[in-house]
Amino acid sequence: MDLGLILNKEELTREEIIFLLSLTGNEEINALFGRADEVRRQFSGDEVHLRGIIDFSNFCEQNCIYCGLREENFSITRYRMTPEEIIETAKIISNEGIYTVVLQSGEDSFYDTDMISYIIYSIKQNTNLAVTLSIGERRFDEYKAWKIAGADRYLLKHETSDEKHYFAYHNRQRLYDRINHLRYLKQIGYQVASGSLIGLPMQSIENIADDILLCKELDVDMAAFGPFIPVPFTPYKSHKQGSVELTLKTIAAARLVLKDVHIPATTALDSIDKEGREKGLKCGANVVMPDFTPHPYREKYIIYPGKRGIAEDPLSAHKMIKRRIEAIGRKISASRGDTLKKNTPSI
Ligand code: SF4
Repeated sequence: MDLGLILNKEELTREEIIFLLSLTGNEEINALFGRADEVRRQFSGDEVHLRGIIDFSNFCEQNCIYCGLREENFSITRYRMTPEEIIETAKIISNEGIYTVVLQSGEDSFYDTDMISYIIYSIKQNTNLAVTLSIGERRFDEYKAWKIAGADRYLLKHETSDEKHYFAYHNRQRLYDRINHLRYLKQIGYQVASGSLIGLPMQSIENIADDILLCKELDVDMAAFGPFIPVPFTPYKSHKQGSVELTLKTIAAARLVLKDVHIPATTALDSIDKEGREKGLKCGANVVMPDFTPHPYREKYIIYPGKRGIAEDPLSAHKMIKRRIEAIGRKISASRGDTLKKNTPSI
């Protein structure tokens, strides 16, 4: 295949995506990253959108085989933040000049429909923040209630587009359901984010190409690809971690395929490579998600070990992230960073 031709094509086939993900020569990989950087600039400019995360509960009723928060991981200390603590942390995020809060937790039904609605509504009353929910699969009537309460976006990664792998990783959940949830969320007006983990056991390059294509099919507004990191006391504790290079190639290929989407340079990538954020931002990413979970909770959200910045004070960690973004010549966005899709209303 001709790399130059592929990099400039409007639409890429599955075979061409696989070809890009399989590149090995430095020159070819740099050409891929350079083209993805151009496409990122064309569709989202040089601004980097910050999304402030609050990991408000590490309880989870699911048992995903790769995840440190899985129900059967009895080695971690569980916590729940109160609604007031969550709302106060959101105000801190807003005061820091950030325009999106991501409310994230395991699947924890302790926070029922009304409690989540109250938190969303209170944040909307007190700040100008866009609210993203990242709280797993919930009931359809709950998604609707939270939309009415003011939620703007929903982050629900599919993790793998291979049905058999999905079942092996999640055992109580089905890919079919996850896709239905994502479709429903989009249908009722959420800006939707999905994506996958790079380097999971059994995963092939073909699977990753399919993950990108599933994001296209679902017409997601944000696509997130982070490396798998093995977690102690989980069934995959001895599996090797995902590769930085393959994660970067995935980000770049996703930018070429999906174009007008947000793509984060994830904290997981930054946790396994000291320049992970910068590298991600230089090959197609345009979003960074600083963690504002306060002490003593932040060090307990052990979705994977060695999370960067976890021991630091959230405000100092955030300042460092901003400095690193500016040091590579990128600007911090002063807008909410809503969907880049032209025909979707920014609600
Ligand atoms: S990936 Fe999400 S749903 Fe699965 S165990 Fe971890 S926190 Fe729970």
